[in-house]
Amino acid sequence: MFGLVQGFLSLTFPVDCLACGELAGAEAFCETCARLVSPRAGQRCARCDTGVPGVHPVCGRCLVEPPPFERGYGVFDYVGPVGDAIRAAKYDARPEALPAVAALLREHLPPELRRDPPGAVLGVPLHPKRLKRRGADAPAMLARTVARGLGVPCLTGALLRLRDTRPQAGLSARERAANVAGAFTPGRRPLPGDVLVVDDITTTGATLRAVAAAAREAGATRVRVLTAAVADRADGP
Ligand SMILES: [Zn+2]
Ligand SMILES: [Zn+2]
Repeated sequence: MFGLVQGFLSLTFPVDCLACGELAGAEAFCETCARLVSPRAGQRCARCDTGVPGVHPVCGRCLVEPPPFERGYGVFDYVGPVGDAIRAAKYDARPEALPAVAALLREHLPPELRRDPPGAVLGVPLHPKRLKRRGADAPAMLARTVARGLGVPCLTGALLRLRDTRPQAGLSARERAANVAGAFTPGRRPLPGDVLVVDDITTTGATLRAVAAAAREAGATRVRVLTAAVADRADGP
C-alpha cells in the first residue's frame, strides 16, 4: 500500500530534487538547487548564441558558415539544475522532470521573442523509432509550453525526421553535421513564414542547422531556434 501511495505521489509531484536527489517535497528542485537556476550569462555569439565571439559580435563558425536560422537562443547551461532535470527526464524516467524544464523555459524566455513572437512554434521532430524507445517527446513538449507562453500556435507534423540518426554523443563537430545532414524533410503541412524551432539540448548546433534548413524548404522565410540547455563539447550528450 505504501508503495502504491509513494508511486502515486512521485507521479503527481516531485519528491526528490531533480538535480541532487535531496528531498524537495512538492517542488521540482530543493531550495539549494532552485537558487542555482538562472539563465546563461557571459559573452555569446549574437547569431547562434552557442559559440564564443572574438573581435566580431558573432562567432567564427557563424562568420565562415552562417547558419540557416536568423537567430539562436540557448537559455540554460546543460551543467546545472536544468541540465540535471533534462537528464532525469531522459535517463531516469522521471515524468515530472520535463514539465519542470518547460515551466522554467517559459519563465525565462528571451525578451526578444516576447517582443517579436514567431508565427508558430515547432519542436525538432524525433524519428518514430526513437519516440517509441524514449516514450516522451521532449522537444514537442517544450515547444507546446513555449507556444503557450508566446500566445502563438504550436505545429506538429510540419517537419519529419527521415532517418533515425545515431546519438550525437561522442561525435566530432564534423561527424555531428554529417550525422544529421538531410535527416529532416518538410511534412504534410506547409509552414507559416516566421517560425521558432525548439529543442531540449544543443552542443554544436548541427541538428538545429539541419532542421532550420528543412524549415526553409518547407516554406518558412524566417527561422529562429531555441534550446533549453546548451552543452559544451566536453560535457555534451
Ligand atoms: Zn537539489
Ligand atoms: Zn555563432
